Amino acid sequence: MSEPVNLLVDSFGRKHTYLRVSVTDRCNLRCQYCMPAAGLNWKEKAELLTFEEIEKLTRLFTAMGICKVRLTGGEPLVRKNLLRLVEMLSAVPGLKTLAMTTNATLLAPQAEALKHAGLKHLNISLDSFDRRRFQEITRMDALPEVMAGIESAIAAGFPVLKLNMVPIAGFNDDEILDFAHFAQKHKINVRFIEFMPFKDNQWQADKVVTFAEMKARLEKHFHLEAMDQPQGEVARDYALRGGGTVSFITSMSESFCQSCNRLRLTSDGSMKSCLFFPPEINLRDALRQNAPEEALRGMILACLQGKPEAHPPAEEIAAAENRSMIEIGG
Ligand code: SAM
Ligand code: SF4
Repeated sequence: MSEPVNLLVDSFGRKHTYLRVSVTDRCNLRCQYCMPAAGLNWKEKAELLTFEEIEKLTRLFTAMGICKVRLTGGEPLVRKNLLRLVEMLSAVPGLKTLAMTTNATLLAPQAEALKHAGLKHLNISLDSFDRRRFQEITRMDALPEVMAGIESAIAAGFPVLKLNMVPIAGFNDDEILDFAHFAQKHKINVRFIEFMPFKDNQWQADKVVTFAEMKARLEKHFHLEAMDQPQGEVARDYALRGGGTVSFITSMSESFCQSCNRLRLTSDGSMKSCLFFPPEINLRDALRQNAPEEALRGMILACLQGKPEAHPPAEEIAAAENRSMIEIGG
């Protein structure tokens, strides 16, 4: 069967196939790089998209060209009955991959059920194997729960399982090798994500550990073999001799804007064409006013046409009035 026509092409010719859906702005951790220490007001339940609304929008986006959806947040597993949403989205025609990014604190008891319900790709975020350090970065003492979550995910056998780590210079970058060893031991993927600036997240240029630095450090201890980069995939992937893979998300040192295929939906129903581009278009209100599908499609295309060619330099982003990562959805 031929692929449906992708209508989600922006003014720079980029085709969009990947939608990141934030299901909540709440989180049970308080990672310093993701959210300010104070001043965030959680959204009221009525402001959040309902599961039915998320499903409706997913159907619409999928009919326009999206084939991969990632559930994120905030922490997606703090949203009650998330399993039901996974079941609902798994049945959306044309949706080939349903993925989730989680801090894994609540994962252990439901990893198996989530996989059963149709979740295919799972990314787990962890920045340190040291309990005190974990507590410092997340402002919560939850490393044992996260490690239990990782174990259950490995046992459940997700087709794709990745660990996300954000190395911060002088804080946890001495654990890069430990993470690579973990990838090798468990035959999974570890993604090193360059520290990105958001308002009030204490970002400084000299805290970023760049792709080149990380790779050079790893190469002193591991043999890294470059892997083919699937189309639209922003990570640079390397196989580790002995098993496992490592990847690098180079958003700061080598922007991948020219091949960006992502769109975002915030938990309150706003569509964002770029993580670092503040303008949004609210689809929830239109949905609740029973806007016809044609009107919703028009709003989606208008938002897409406003997508910038590339994001501004990091220092400019750090000073800009954008929502924090936790509010947008990572
Ligand atoms: N709560 C879930 C979690 O932590 O996996 C999902 C949401 S979180 C915002 C998604 C991802 O964004 C996490 O892997 C986190 O490490 C990453 N992230 C948050 N703030 C970041 C920053 N300033 N720079 C780089 N990555 C960041
Ligand atoms: Fe929560 Fe994830 Fe942000 Fe940490 S990175 S505060 S776990 S949303």
